[in-house]
Amino acid sequence: MPVYEYRCKACQNKYSEILSIEESDDVPACPSCGSEDVQKLVSSVAVVRSAQDKAEDRSKALTDVDPNKPQEVAKHFRDHGSQFGEDDFRGTKEWHDAVDRVAEGGPTLDE
Ligand SMILES: [Zn+2]
Repeated sequence: MPVYEYRCKACQNKYSEILSIEESDDVPACPSCGSEDVQKLVSSVAVVRSAQDKAEDRSKALTDVDPNKPQEVAKHFRDHGSQFGEDDFRGTKEWHDAVDRVAEGGPTLDE
């Protein structure tokens, strides 16, 4: 189900509604003041980026990192990992622990 975001022009309240495609033409009234004079915002969920865009972002973000230095790579992921979007880049606790360890100069997973 897509999420639609709206801003109430009367009270500036911002809210989101989960609507089916058929319902999306109906404007849900502002839950704060009941006004239907609302503006539909571009939903962050609706802006689906292609996998290729994300891959390009990744390679751009990693240009400063020497891939032959695991410690550099781990530091980068620790500091900037979230910018890749949490939707597809949510490491497990073990993964984060491993990144922290390597970033501190510890052994890599291969060692
Ligand atoms: Zn309102």
